Amino acid sequence: MDNCIFCKIVAGTIPSKKVFEDEDLIVFHDINPAAPMHLLMVPREHIATLADSDDRHQALLGKMLRIAPKLAQEHGGGYQNGADGPTGGFKTLINTGPDGGQEVYHLHLHLMGGPRPWSGQR
Ligand code: 5GP
Ligand code: ZN
Repeated sequence: MDNCIFCKIVAGTIPSKKVFEDEDLIVFHDINPAAPMHLLMVPREHIATLADSDDRHQALLGKMLRIAPKLAQEHGGGYQNGADGPTGGFKTLINTGPDGGQEVYHLHLHLMGGPRPWSGQR
């Protein structure tokens, strides 16, 4: 999509601090982090919103959730369930539409974590 900022990041014409990429998606640091770790998981394909996804995207959406814990672990938002109980942890979030708080209309999953308190309200 010509005027989509995340398509430009996927294409590399706008720089980003990338931490992961494969054939389906890229992951980079949010420019305005709401938590000590704030990554954005972005499909290479332009899908405007979660509501615009269809059955073809089922595996992609599952993959995004499946790799989230490992990415969180690698970037300071890891979750542990130790002998003294659970520590750490992260939030996974997809905003959809104006009332959902979506600002960039290219589907993305926020992966936020790290020690509380967080700066943002998400
Ligand atoms: P939304 O509100 O659409 O769910 O979230 C969009 C997110 O994209 C926001 O957290 C915002 O900080 C981030 N963002 C917007 N433009 C850019 C950019 O050019 N680069 C990066 N890395 N993040 C961006
Ligand atoms: Zn796009």
